Amino acid sequence: MNDWNFDEYCAKTAAELQLFLPSRVFDAHAHPGEKSELDLKRVSILNELPQDVGIATWREFTSLHVGKERLKGGLFFALPLFDEQADIRQSMRRANDFVVSDLRNSGEAKSKCLLLVSRLLKPSDVEEHLKEDCVCGFKPYVTLSPGCDASSRISDFVPDWVFALAHERELVITLHIQKHGALSDAGNIRDIHEICKKYPNMKLILAHCGCSFNVYNTLNGAKYYTDIDNIYFDTSALCEGLALTHMFKLFAANRFMWGTDFPISVRHGRFVGLGDFVFSLQNNTVDGGNLPDNIMTMHQGLESLRALVYAIKESGLSDSEVEGIFYDNAANLLGIQ
Ligand SMILES: [Zn+2]
Repeated sequence: MNDWNFDEYCAKTAAELQLFLPSRVFDAHAHPGEKSELDLKRVSILNELPQDVGIATWREFTSLHVGKERLKGGLFFALPLFDEQADIRQSMRRANDFVVSDLRNSGEAKSKCLLLVSRLLKPSDVEEHLKEDCVCGFKPYVTLSPGCDASSRISDFVPDWVFALAHERELVITLHIQKHGALSDAGNIRDIHEICKKYPNMKLILAHCGCSFNVYNTLNGAKYYTDIDNIYFDTSALCEGLALTHMFKLFAANRFMWGTDFPISVRHGRFVGLGDFVFSLQNNTVDGGNLPDNIMTMHQGLESLRALVYAIKESGLSDSEVEGIFYDNAANLLGIQ
């Protein structure tokens, strides 16, 4: 089995979902990258990546999911998977260079990009890139800050200058929060309130709906964020419809943006909540090897899109709210016409 293959089952699901999609879609979370720069062994979902995953490949694969004519653009940032022996600061700079130049050369006029940042960078490391029209903010990563891990506080892996600069220039930050409890973690609740209050012109997008991969974290925690004005959510990689319907109850639809998490989106499998945990269910993550032959799997991006489409239906959102989630909300936030 080719775990990246867009097979008949994927095609059938994509065709069914496309009946529901508005005429324009924008992908608010995608990672173009150069395979030669990445340490793919560390992420099993990517370790057999079949080819380079630049913006042209993003367009080719994502068009299969949503339809070629609908796909109008994306918000791009690099994959943060560098060789641990490498100079991470240099790797980040090269990865940011790649995304900016790949976007410039791609002809994707309605697209923007974010710069990878971490504790290792200073404002002077991003100054040149910020002069580019296509650069509209930052994507911090815990794995790029030495000594940080899944238990880190936001302030451990995002230096304060990132928020301050985003506030000063009205930039976007897409943040993948850490901590086992995700949105329900008391430290995350406190930190996100503090940051958003201190830097009101910053636009904070919580990736994966605030890491709602385990739905119970969201059911317990999302209510604590409803008083924050400058917070938004992308739905990338999230396959839990209940997390989405709960979020749609609490927040206006204009806070949400569809995203793929490409190239994670084009591998067969699904993120599932198990107990208090999150598990990426796919071939080679299950102990002993492969999923049973009689289980049909589809691209993870289609699982995520299906969860979003059905959550929207269950929530009874209006046509204009749906158009917002798939295009207008991101376009407005990022200044795209
Ligand atoms: Zn991502």
